Amino acid sequence: MSTSPSPWAAGLALRCPQCGRGSVFAGYLKFRDKCGVCAADFKAADAGDGPAVFVILIVGAIVAPELIILQAGMHLPDWLALTITILSAIVLCLALLPPFKAILFALQWKHKAREVRNEDVQ
Ligand SMILES: [Zn+2]
Repeated sequence: MSTSPSPWAAGLALRCPQCGRGSVFAGYLKFRDKCGVCAADFKAADAGDGPAVFVILIVGAIVAPELIILQAGMHLPDWLALTITILSAIVLCLALLPPFKAILFALQWKHKAREVRNEDVQ
């Protein structure tokens, strides 16, 4: 029986999917080699393009209406509306990437997902 934390909770907290306590990141988006608390091996961690795809879709769904509201609803000058929207997009992307990357890694960890190899399909 597994006592691992929920992958959603561990990911949102940027914590180890095995113990839920150690940090998964050594830098902004760089995974540690292993958990500092339980020594779980993170070397195979690879969330691929998944986090960026989710973040792009979510941030796009936020900033596109934001731009319309700023321009058509609040009648801000174009340069100001565009500047606010671009800054919002940058800030949101930078804020959302680490938790999404950690959540996808924690889900991969929980479901033991890995790259399909040639031997798997023969
Ligand atoms: Zn751990």
